[in-house]
Amino acid sequence: MSEHVLYDCIGVGIGPFNLGLAALLDNQDSIKAIFFDKAECFEWHPGMLIEEADLQVPFLADLVTFADPTSKYSFLNYVHKQNRLYQFYFFKRFDIPRREYNLYAKWVADQLKACHFQSVVVDVKETEHNGVSAYQVTVHRLDTGETKLYFTKHVVLGTGSIPFVPESFSRGKQNNVVHTSDYLPNASDIKEASSVVVVGSGQSAAEVFYELLVDQKHFHYSLTWYTRSALFSQLETGKLGQEVFSPDYVHYFHSLDYEKRKEALGRLQTVRNGVDKETLINIYDLLYNRSVEGRDKNIIIQPLTEVEEIKEHGVEVELQCMQWETEESFVRKVEKVVVATGYKPHIPEWIWDKKAEMVWESDKEFQVDEKFRIVWKEKRANHIYASTNLEHSHGTAATNLSLAVMRNQTIINDIAGKELYPLKNDTVFQQFRPEMKN
Ligand SMILES: Cc1cc2nc3c(=O)[nH]c(=O)nc-3n(C[C@H](O)[C@H](O)[C@H](O)COP(=O)(O)OP(=O)(O)OC[C@H]3O[C@@H](n4cnc5c(N)ncnc54)[C@H](O)[C@@H]3O)c2cc1C
Repeated sequence: MSEHVLYDCIGVGIGPFNLGLAALLDNQDSIKAIFFDKAECFEWHPGMLIEEADLQVPFLADLVTFADPTSKYSFLNYVHKQNRLYQFYFFKRFDIPRREYNLYAKWVADQLKACHFQSVVVDVKETEHNGVSAYQVTVHRLDTGETKLYFTKHVVLGTGSIPFVPESFSRGKQNNVVHTSDYLPNASDIKEASSVVVVGSGQSAAEVFYELLVDQKHFHYSLTWYTRSALFSQLETGKLGQEVFSPDYVHYFHSLDYEKRKEALGRLQTVRNGVDKETLINIYDLLYNRSVEGRDKNIIIQPLTEVEEIKEHGVEVELQCMQWETEESFVRKVEKVVVATGYKPHIPEWIWDKKAEMVWESDKEFQVDEKFRIVWKEKRANHIYASTNLEHSHGTAATNLSLAVMRNQTIINDIAGKELYPLKNDTVFQQFRPEMKN
């Protein structure tokens, strides 16, 4: 079955990035767009919607505000419609609970007729539609089993990321080794165990460790936190430093050559990786309170420790570890392990199929131009815009929620061929090149 309409834009995936795009396009009649996601409904990292976890950017980094603060899809309008505006006012904080961001985004998704869930995009290929070059998008509906073809001038790849687990961490059928992305559905099982190890030192690891630390008093598990890092670093949140999360820095970063961009990413570690100050304070304060009557031997926190291999033997999990500074290797046997080993970009097969036609900056990093268009060896009029796999090309804008709005403005203006959402330049106090402003 196929649709005869030629869309201007088809969005693949409805995470926050393409959801923001759909929200900004909702009142733009000149761009006909439709969006598909394989999930049953919008859910933002549901395995990590831990009760006390906050959004790591101010609420102003909602789906639309940076492009259009008057949009009815703003977070402020959401709290207003929920009759929570007074409570939010007295709350007096910019960092809202992650669960609230999820509910806000669900509220937006529910209002957007262009968003279709339970719909997997299984293929995208070049074609012609009534004599015009276009993409043919094959969509498989999970609820009806129907497969349908759609035609569009442009595609926006918003397939996000998928959990990354090192190959040496073998996960058996028992579900005793759980990635943080699956933490909440497994949390009650994990807490019934006699021993739990958390591996990693990023924000997700810290949030899971804290949650387990809080609940430890209701259960009987010992709790261990291993990380390869030399210290539990705090995310740098100084105001001037944060200006790298601005359109100006993104333009500067993109203008650098590939090698310089990769070097810059290394230097930006302190603002991109690490644990939120409040989470680290919560952990330390709880440890301090617990230790008033004597130190709890059931808690081990150990940096400098690489978990080299994980094997599941029935109900037991064996971790092969190495304190890399003293070169002491040891084996730890526990019941449950939570691995906070991060995520990697989710690039669908149908993109890999086009590998020979695309320009690549490295094996897995395709070239993306300033307008977020994948670069082809032979110029095309029909574009595939990328919202995923952008770290090497757009640095701080790759996974940041606030900068996603600027990206969507750029994509919309490029598709429209005019400025539907004017972009702001000269937005921060710093300049990143010796060019005098005015
Ligand atoms: C736990 C966690 C917390 C985070 N917190 C913050 C934060 O506080 N602030 C911040 O700035 N950033 C944060 N990030 C980073 C970033 O904002 C998120 O990863 C964000 O979800 C990225 O949005 P996305 O739209 O690219 O992708 P995703 O949210 O990953 O969504 C991708 C969607 O694509 C769908 N999909 C994939 N393939 C197909 C297909 N073939 N057909 C149809 N659908 C498909 C998936 O079902 C999924 O719904 C966080 C990341 C994580 C993992």
